[in-house]
Order: sequence, then structure tokens, then C-alpha cells
Amino acid sequence: MTKNEPFEILKQINYIRASGSAKEKEAAIHLQGLLKNWGLNAWLEEFEVPLYKVEEAFISAKGKTYAASPLRNSPAIDIEAPFYYVDQLREADFATCQGGVVLTQSVKASHDKLKDSGIKGILLAEGRAIDPPSYRHPQGNGFDFEAYLSNVPTLRIHIQDALQLLKEEVKTVHFKLQAITYKGTSQNVVADVPGAVAETLLVGGHYDSVPEGPGIRDNGGGSAIVASMAYYFSKHPLTRSLRFIFFGAEEIGLYGSRDYIKRHRDELSKYPMLMNIDVAGSAIGSNHIMVQGYNDLVRQMCKCVAELNYPAEVNARMVGSDSTPFGVAGVPSFMIARGSHPGLSFNHTKDDRIEFVDPKQLDAMAEFCIESLKLIDSRHKLAFRRGLTPKLTKEYEKRMKLLYGE
Ligand SMILES: [Zn+2]
Repeated sequence: MTKNEPFEILKQINYIRASGSAKEKEAAIHLQGLLKNWGLNAWLEEFEVPLYKVEEAFISAKGKTYAASPLRNSPAIDIEAPFYYVDQLREADFATCQGGVVLTQSVKASHDKLKDSGIKGILLAEGRAIDPPSYRHPQGNGFDFEAYLSNVPTLRIHIQDALQLLKEEVKTVHFKLQAITYKGTSQNVVADVPGAVAETLLVGGHYDSVPEGPGIRDNGGGSAIVASMAYYFSKHPLTRSLRFIFFGAEEIGLYGSRDYIKRHRDELSKYPMLMNIDVAGSAIGSNHIMVQGYNDLVRQMCKCVAELNYPAEVNARMVGSDSTPFGVAGVPSFMIARGSHPGLSFNHTKDDRIEFVDPKQLDAMAEFCIESLKLIDSRHKLAFRRGLTPKLTKEYEKRMKLLYGE
């Protein structure tokens, strides 16, 4: 049994599994192999994804060159332009910054307005001013919603370099981004554990990682838990059927979950619920259950937390993860995640590594998820209200729809 525990499975996919890459596919085939070894019917569902490859990204000024990392999908550019700094980029700054490159903490103007502002490029700073030299390059985890949607070329630089630009009172910068977009393939891994009745509960988690690191807590840990649950239920089936979905290409825009929904549109009304595990295993952290549905599912999960004595905060909110497209498509959904202490919080960087995972935390979350499904399955009738509350619809439309909507 031990080799089917989450940490053992996690060790088997401890490598970079970038969305749409050969390594992502290798992980998919590995997971499929495990599921098949356990006697489950498991298959891959392939779909096309837009990939983005950075060939060159830097800025230079006063004879110094600084490493940079673009926001995904930023268009290529190669210019020499005036350099400006503003704390937060607002519409009122457009006139003075026109034709230039702007270093800012965040964009407070709408992407629509920014698009036509005449600003040629945006610089965002990330990292910490006290980082040691080995960290003196952008990790690529800073994100700005409006800059991203505006399509204005945006580069992230290290905060030490940003400080240097200010210190040197730089007037112009060379801003270069050479990147290409092309089509690739990703895949979901799907496996069924039939129960006595056809009604099917969904359990999912994405197995891809960002290209910067091995995505151990986000979400190797979650996928390892999903796999260990598939193993457990293959030996101890529930009354209801279970379907396990390992989503591909989550990190570049929830492609796996969105493909699943498109492909299985006719079946969605038959799923009473989806449990999505995304981010797990941090040695020091806190657990969160975020519902994309109505209060009846919030209450259900509060009950699970109380009865199983698992410390977790439960609420209804939007999340940038695979449960969101399901919630929007009418399948009552929730995401369970383990946050990290700020000193351990390395999601989407090369430091999301296995040594910061406590196997006991993976086991505890797996046990909670298994026991919760048992409690839910013990209910005679499952009819969580479908769709999104007005509050969630508003949250979805404000942000998620722009990022991930069709
Ligand atoms: Zn994730």
C-alpha cells in the first residue's frame, strides 16, 4: 500500500511538467500507467493549446543589461524608448508616458484604455531587494491583470534592477522581447471507478506545472492525492460512481478543464459535484475550501470539516483553477487548497520543491478528501443547487471571464 501514498506518487512526477510539453505528456502517461496498474479504465483526452516561447527578453540602459521575463503572450518588440516611473499607472499618466516604457507597481487603468494609450512597454518589478545574487533574475511569478489583457508588451525585472534604473536616473531604455506563439498539444488523464449507481462524482486536479519549476505543491501534490484517492476507491468503491480527471495545461489558462467541459457538455447535467484539489502539502500552512456554487455546498463542506475534524476555512469564491469552468458550466464545484506560510510560499517559481512538502500533510488532505466523499455519498439524494450566485457571477465576470472565458 505504501507505494500508493501521495508522497510516493509525488516523487514519481518530481520534474518540470510545463503545459503542452513532452514532459507534461510523460507525466500524463505515467499517471495513466499507475491507474491501469490498479485495474482502472484510464485514458487520455488530447486537445490543442496555444504555446508561447520566449527567445530573448531583456532591457538595457546606460551600458547595463538586465534579465527580463515577459507576461505570457506579450507581443514581440525591440525599441529604444524614454523611461518613466510611476507608482501605479493610471489614465492620468498616459499623456506623460506616451511613447515610452513605464516601470510601475501595478496598472490601475483598464486594459481597454491602456491598449490605446500609446505606451510602448511596461516593466513590473518582482523578487525582494535583499535576494542573494543567485536569485537576481526574475522568477516570472509577478502578474498584472490589466497589463496582461492590454496586450502592451510587459516585462518583469528583478526589483534590484528596478532600483538600479531609478538610482542611475535612466532616461531611455532598450526594451527587447523576442517571442513566438505556436500550437501544441496537452491532455487530460481520465479514469473511472464505477459504483453501484451511474450517478458520478468528479474528482480532479491539474498535473502540469509552470515552466520555471517542478510545481510540487502546485500541483504535483494535488495530483498525487487524486491518484492515491483513485487507488483507494478502486479497492473500496462508493455507491455512486467516481470519475478522476488529471487536468493538463491549467497553468496557461485552464485548458484541460475547459476542454473537458466542451467535450462532455452533454454529460454535465449528470454530475452532482466536482472536487478539485489544487495546491497541497506545505509543511506549514492553512487549508481552504473555496466553493463555486451555492450555500448548500458550502454547508456540506462545513459539515465535512467539522465531522472529520480537519482544519479548513470554507467559503464561496472564485478561484483561478479548474473548478471555476465547472462551476460556471453549472456543476457545483469546490477547490481545496493548502496555502503556505509566506516564508514558504513559492508557487510558480523554481522553488516550489519537494523538500518543502510534509508527506503527513498530503496524507491528511487525502484522508479528508476520501472521508468527505464517503460522507457526501452517504446522502440518499444529492441535489446541490446548480449555477453561480449573483456574487460569484459578479466575481467571475470581473476577472475570470476575461482571463479564461470563451
Ligand atoms: Zn495550480
